[in-house]
Amino acid sequence: MKKVILAYNRVSPEVITQLKEDYEVIYFEKNEYLDDPFFVQTLKKASGVIGLDLKVTKELLDLAPELKIISNVSVGYDNLPVDELSQRGIMATNTPDVLTDTTADAIFGLLLAAARRIAELDHYVKSEQWNELLPPHLFGMDVHHKRLGIIGMGRIGQAIAKRGHFGFDMEILYHNRSRKLEAENWLNASYVSMDELLAESDFVCLMVPASPETKQLISHEEFKKMKQTAIFINGSRGQNVDEDALYHALENGTIWAAGTDVFTEEPLPAGHKLLTCKNLVTLPHIGSSTAETEHKMSVVAANNLQAGLSGKLPPNLINKEVKLNR
Ligand code: NAP
Repeated sequence: MKKVILAYNRVSPEVITQLKEDYEVIYFEKNEYLDDPFFVQTLKKASGVIGLDLKVTKELLDLAPELKIISNVSVGYDNLPVDELSQRGIMATNTPDVLTDTTADAIFGLLLAAARRIAELDHYVKSEQWNELLPPHLFGMDVHHKRLGIIGMGRIGQAIAKRGHFGFDMEILYHNRSRKLEAENWLNASYVSMDELLAESDFVCLMVPASPETKQLISHEEFKKMKQTAIFINGSRGQNVDEDALYHALENGTIWAAGTDVFTEEPLPAGHKLLTCKNLVTLPHIGSSTAETEHKMSVVAANNLQAGLSGKLPPNLINKEVKLNR
């Protein structure tokens, strides 16, 4: 009898077809969850889960006695209680690397859009307001030769810094949990304290994972420490920023503009106050969302799943300590 796989939310159709050669794959759209009897029934016999952003709780795990592996189709894994999974002997995997450049492109695009007011001026042209030379109050800010501060100098943070340094002659500052000596060399990047980064950067770009330590890492105090001309970019996770503080910083002119791909609640609820900020560029969490990269992420996730279910160590195992409990 084939092992059962619960596929969830976003897995490429070609990858589902391929997985079906070896497994019984049952696919769910995002909306199904523990209140759906068929979802629960599938969970009860599932050996593996593959998908994007399934909120995994103890309650869910109690309903999944056969589960051996959860294969996330994302690099972030804040949807997973990693310690709890390890204790239960369940492997957790993610899809790093294949999305790094695509996400860096999107987040650097957000930075350019915020600085040069691209979304706002697109609307200006299309709404037929362009009937004279652009008035100076709609001018943007230069990006080239400015100072880019990266908080979270991991894979994506470095790829953003690379675009800034080599493409736009930017000076790179960074703050990170540990020093990145290699990046300091190849990007000529300077490791600085958080306070120094906030005070000295023209662009502050947040790329840390969501964790208890990074929850609301950027709040009122941090915005106050930034330059009044600063542009703040969040490409990481919504919960890393105090959205109330962001709103006030934009409305009061504490900073000049911002761009964000991520929100505390996604999709952003109707009537959310950030929607009224003209100096905020918003994206609907699309960092890795190109057809090519989404497919590659599904392939990597499927490889992780297949390795885990055939007794091998998955290439992108998050909870290496799980071995002790298997
Ligand atoms: P990564 O390589 O693990 O980089 C994360 C970096 O953050 C690491 O260098 C880490 O430091 C640092 N860090 C962690 N906690 C910190 C803290 N409290 N203070 C300072 N630095 C801290 O991960 P990645 O592949 O670059 O991805 C980063 C995050 O981007 C993901 O976790 C995800 O949330 C987000 N993301 C968003 C999108 C999107 O669509 N917008 C797409 C992909 C990823 P150490 O090196 O010392 O561990």
